[in-house]
Order: sequence, then structure tokens, then C-alpha cells
Amino acid sequence: MNNKHWYGMLTKNCLMNSRLLSAGCWIWWLCLWLVTTGFSGPIEHVIIVSMDGARPDYVLSAQASNIQAMAAQGAFTWWAQTVNPSVTLISHTSMLSGCQPAKHGIDWNTWKPSKGFIKTNTCFELVKKSGGRTAMFVGKAKLRHIAKPDTVDTFESVEGPAMTISTAAAVYFKTNQPDLLFVHYPDPDAAGHAFGWGAAPYLAAIKDCDQGIGLLRIGVEQAGLADRTLFIITADHGGHQRSHGTKDVRDMTIPWVAYSPGNVIPGEIQTGISTCDTAATAVYALGLKVDPQWDGKAAEEIFADGKAAGVRKRQMAK
Ligand SMILES: [Zn+2]
Repeated sequence: MNNKHWYGMLTKNCLMNSRLLSAGCWIWWLCLWLVTTGFSGPIEHVIIVSMDGARPDYVLSAQASNIQAMAAQGAFTWWAQTVNPSVTLISHTSMLSGCQPAKHGIDWNTWKPSKGFIKTNTCFELVKKSGGRTAMFVGKAKLRHIAKPDTVDTFESVEGPAMTISTAAAVYFKTNQPDLLFVHYPDPDAAGHAFGWGAAPYLAAIKDCDQGIGLLRIGVEQAGLADRTLFIITADHGGHQRSHGTKDVRDMTIPWVAYSPGNVIPGEIQTGISTCDTAATAVYALGLKVDPQWDGKAAEEIFADGKAAGVRKRQMAK
């Protein structure tokens, strides 16, 4: 082998080795990135689902397979607490404004146009002020009191059961990809008042909600946003016999499931969750500052590092 040939071989080998090393480095960094990011996120969309009157022990006994699977893969508690009085409009206002009733000021439970809208901030308002898009699909028109003007892009009061509402909401999500979507199902409350909490029609209504949630998940997957969407599945109150509204533990206890694989750390939430924490957790997940005036606090500990970003991330990219 002459010197020239030897030098050529050496150069060729060095080049090949350096290319291999370089490729190895890239693969190593790619693996590290995939592991640290968990193949997903960050969270850019939040869907809050409220099943009206859904008591957590009945969510479990109704064999709500979607919700139970989401709880198994998400952060959950079956012991979250709503506010007193545990009635639909007042407790939903706390859920979406982060404030106890004494602070948010809505102390009635019917649609009263003359009363106007909630006076304090809502989670929709914070997202909207930050340049995000918001929507509400509800089964009870009185929830319009929470949708202050210019804070909710689309407010739909949908007549019908959970599947009808879910169909409309899923189509809307796919088309418009809102940052924050609230979906409300009236079914369990209606069945509870008519037949009793825990009766067969009540359990069937929870099952219907569960199928509605399945439909929403399909919509999110079809939009290609499954790894960037946080679901919070909850309720406004529980109930017992044929009513609710008291401080009874059966009225006050609600389910709370946060589901976003790779973004939310799975497991039972050990700190107490109030319904006021729902608004705070939703805006936190989107990377926004929680209003310090709110009673609710974000469940920060449920999120994997760097996954709560959403609206803020998009603002920074501009
Ligand atoms: Zn209700």
C-alpha cells in the first residue's frame, strides 16, 4: 500500500466514522427528546366537561368505561368538592370563575336576563384576553349568565341529550379548534330528579355522558390534537334521593379527572380539589396566570414539566 492510498483509506474511514458518530449523536438526542417530552404536548387546548348531577360513586358503578379509562391514565379524585349551595347555576359559575358564590355574586338558579352576567373574571375571559378562542356547548340555557359579552366566541344552548350536545361540540372543535371549550350534559340531573339518584335511568344517563365523552375524544383525535388537549371531566354537584342543593356529602362530592397522556402525571390526586380549582387549572394548563383574586388554585402538581404552555407559547412565537 503506498502512502497516497493509505492516506486516502484513512481519510475515508475518518469521514465514515465521524458521520456514524454524528448520526449516533442525533439519534441519541432524538431519543432523549422523545423521552423527556413524553411524545406529546404541550397542552394547547382544554375541554372542560360537566355532567350535571353526576355523583362520583355512581360514575364508578355505572361502568362509565371512557371516564374510568381516562382516570386510569390521568390525574383524578372521586372526592372533589363543589360549593354550597350545590345547585346548577351557582356551582357552574364557581367551576368556571374560580370563585366561591359570595365572590362571584350569582345567587340564583334560573335564567334571568334582567340580572345580566357574572361580574367577576371567568376562565373564558382570561383566555380571550390572551388572544385565545373560547366556546360553550350547554344543555341548560341559564348557563348563559357565565358567558359575559366578548368572552365566549360561540355559545350554543343545545336541546337534547349528551350525544346530541357532543356531536355539535365535536364538530365545532374539529372545525374551529378553540383553546378552551366547555361542554355541559344535563342528563344525570334530569334522571336523578325524575327517578332518583342511583336509579337505573340515572345510571343509564351517566353511561350516555360517558359515550358523549367518547365522541368528543374521537373529535379531538380527528383534529390531530389528542396529544395537545387536556380534558377535565367533572360535575356541578351530586345528589341524593330526588334532589340536591344541600351541604350533604352526597350533594357536595363530585368527580374530577384530568386527562392528557404524556402531559398529565397519572395517579390519584392527594391534595383536595375544589370546583373552583377547575377554572384555575384550565388557564394554568394554557400557560396563563391564574387570577390572584380567585379562590381556586391550579392543580400544578399534576402536570409534567413544561407541558402547561398553550396560549402563552403561541403568544411568544408571534
Ligand atoms: Zn346541576
